[in-house]
Amino acid sequence: MPHHYIDPKTRTALPEIETWQDYEVTIRCKKHGLQRGPESVINDIERECPVCPVCGKASKMKSMSHEHAWFSWICIPGCDPDSDCFGPFSSEDAAVVAARKFAMSQP
Ligand SMILES: [Zn+2]
Repeated sequence: MPHHYIDPKTRTALPEIETWQDYEVTIRCKKHGLQRGPESVINDIERECPVCPVCGKASKMKSMSHEHAWFSWICIPGCDPDSDCFGPFSSEDAAVVAARKFAMSQP
């Protein structure tokens, strides 16, 4: 998956923003109601079911988008993500901008 720098001018650190294209899935959690997210995050491969992105409990899938959208998060290659997922966006640029905005707002 492509990676981008939070600050493209200082390429000293590892690229911290990961972007990818995915379907947007809507699920219904008994506790958290309707929740949305990229299919790769919502679908738990090991448990073979959609899970709530808030509590991780097995949930009912309500719908899935027909086309891919762009998503992003703060994630150093090979590590777990350091933020929630941003998206869906219609372009990769928009996904990168959202992740950069989040990173710059952190203390
Ligand atoms: Zn939940």
